[in-house]
Amino acid sequence: MHPYLKPARHEGSIPRILAHFTISAQLLFSCTEGKPHSQPMQSHTPHMAKAPPEPNGVQTPDSDYATETDVRPFLDALIHRQYPRLRGYWSNGRIHVETFSEYPRLFAARPSVVNSVRSAKVHYTVYYDPRNFQWMNGHPPMSKKALWGVLAHELAHIQEYVGQPISSLVRAGKAYVRNGHSLARYERSTDVRALVHAHRYRTHNALVHENVAEGLVAFRHWVDAPERNQNKRGKTHEKKRQLRRERYLFQEEITVIDRLIQGYPELWKRLIGDPPMNLKEAQALAQRAKQRDESPTTE
Ligand SMILES: [Zn+2]
Repeated sequence: MHPYLKPARHEGSIPRILAHFTISAQLLFSCTEGKPHSQPMQSHTPHMAKAPPEPNGVQTPDSDYATETDVRPFLDALIHRQYPRLRGYWSNGRIHVETFSEYPRLFAARPSVVNSVRSAKVHYTVYYDPRNFQWMNGHPPMSKKALWGVLAHELAHIQEYVGQPISSLVRAGKAYVRNGHSLARYERSTDVRALVHAHRYRTHNALVHENVAEGLVAFRHWVDAPERNQNKRGKTHEKKRQLRRERYLFQEEITVIDRLIQGYPELWKRLIGDPPMNLKEAQALAQRAKQRDESPTTE
């Protein structure tokens, strides 16, 4: 269990918790992007699946672009292969897929409370921005590989929410908003969990795009492109990029940590509970693990 999601000692009455939760849930658990845009999102067609036009015939090495129609089948495949605990929630319709309606963001996973006559049940929603699948300022849509990686991250969030009492989710959400460092630890831990799940349940006949580590690298690289981080005056938003690098595993960190996960299953728990906060920390951990391997064992 994640330290931010410890069960509550005293459960409050459901109506009180729900009121509390509704307020918090609007603000929290949005795990990808920084502050909302000041302008409301332009209207979009939620399930538009038309392939985006490629300006000037530009091709990138990773030109296998994802489309909106990939989101559901990818979630379905990931849940069935790597998140067995979520299978029941998926087949019972308690995991939803929706587009953001308010403002531009990338992806998020959020819990919400659905009331019925007898009980209140937590449902989970994966949100995405349809513009992730379109060209923007000359920058291409995300690749299938990147989509696979980011959806594995979102499912790692949901896996953590599942089974938590509502009051714990509220508290976790508050910690998420309050503290930048907690938030970075939490997101990095989520990345590590996505990588651990991929190894734990890896299949040998996976398709080219079905590698979570490569997917996360591709996704973060795509998000980090200057063209996708411009302010209204067309300048690159460096602070935003920096914040994102602190909050998530990036590029080489992913490679180093993924190798650690592959080689040292005994480190999984430690990596999830106390994830490296930068490349140096990740490399130091890898170095220590290697040294332990090489030192002669004593009886
Ligand atoms: Zn996240």
